[in-house]
Amino acid sequence: MDHFTYKDGLLSAEDVNLADLADQIGTPFYCYSRATLERHFRAFDDALAGLDHTICYAVKANGNVAVIKTLAQLGAGADVVSGGELMRALKAGVPPSKIVFSGVGKTQTEMAQALDAGIYQVNVESEPELVALSEVAAGKGVTAHVAIRINPDVDAKTHAKITTGRAENKFGIDWDRAPEVYARARDLPGIDAGGIAVHIGSQLLDLEPYRRAYERLRDVALGLRAQGHDIRRLDLGGGLGIPYNDEQAPPPAEYGAMVKDIVGPLGCHVTVEPGRLIAGNAGVLVTRVLYAKDGSTRRFVIVDAAMNDLLRPALYDAYHAIVPVTEPAADAERHPVDVVGPICETGDTFAVQRHLPAVKPGDLLAIRSAGAYGAVMASTYNGRPLVPEVLVSGGDHAVVRRRVEAEEFMAFDALPPWLMD
Ligand SMILES: *Cc1c(COP(=O)(O)O)cnc(C)c1O
Repeated sequence: MDHFTYKDGLLSAEDVNLADLADQIGTPFYCYSRATLERHFRAFDDALAGLDHTICYAVKANGNVAVIKTLAQLGAGADVVSGGELMRALKAGVPPSKIVFSGVGKTQTEMAQALDAGIYQVNVESEPELVALSEVAAGKGVTAHVAIRINPDVDAKTHAKITTGRAENKFGIDWDRAPEVYARARDLPGIDAGGIAVHIGSQLLDLEPYRRAYERLRDVALGLRAQGHDIRRLDLGGGLGIPYNDEQAPPPAEYGAMVKDIVGPLGCHVTVEPGRLIAGNAGVLVTRVLYAKDGSTRRFVIVDAAMNDLLRPALYDAYHAIVPVTEPAADAERHPVDVVGPICETGDTFAVQRHLPAVKPGDLLAIRSAGAYGAVMASTYNGRPLVPEVLVSGGDHAVVRRRVEAEEFMAFDALPPWLMD
């Protein structure tokens, strides 16, 4: 459930209609709903009630500081994957005691940043990384609290580019090598490996792969405990899927019940790292129709948003619902159109043969489910500006990242001496 609905004939984010916003802000722009972010966070938190847990929101899904702060105020922690994201989480007021740092390639500079901030946990993905972290921690005379990410070799049955838990993926250590790696960790200075982490992929629509991964995690934990390791933290990753179209996503309550059933008896502190589940359906990308063009075989609706603003369709063949901001009549005829952006790539296509009511130049469209992996993946390809992000709360709105104009971005370029006139 989200808070993007038609009110008085116009698509609104909570009580703010998107047509007014478009007039004020200019298109394209991202619009997020605070009530939806909060609703999704609470639903997930409620689903885990009774379990000693922290929800570490995956900042990579939507790293806007206002979005992170909205969630931090409800008690969320953060899962970060770079020094830049760590800075964002801290700036948003996430307590370091609720921050976990994931990713296969942390630099020693980033490790130092994490240790200086005193974060809850570093999720280590390889032995070389473990050794590097040990050097940094020992050099500072501190102890790094570590969870080692195991790769459970489970097929998440999601898109190949976002499945992460197979043996052939780059993530984590093979689960059956856990005994050696934890034994090695015990001997390294500055390392307390009291945790185990797992994350098998994103946009999972089936709980079965989770069940298998978490059972494996539990078995590894029990095995390590039997060898004398004090395993007291589990990180279950993120990845729960959301409906983009008419998919049936697993209800958080079912996920929560499964988690409690499988890992609850271990008595560990549990962290979970949802990103998409919280932010995905809490945002839309609003765009204006530039032209309608009839090709020999199909009609193209050319809009002012493009793949540089929202990459998911080009990168993952992702489906995004597209709706007119002006509510169409219930009996409006729908015709198949391709909705495309202005970029010089065929991949710059938001929808193929999508049945939409008639639209004309100047009309506004909302590309739905764009709150996660939208603005964060934007680039300035084709010399385009970075689009603004707006956060709505009830009848209020605020620009939470202004448009970065092409000219400002160009100012980062510099001429070498031999090209100066
Ligand atoms: C991407 C990622 C997440 C978040 O995934 P969602 O599908 O957005 O929930 C969580 N943990 C790790 C380690 C990730 O890489």
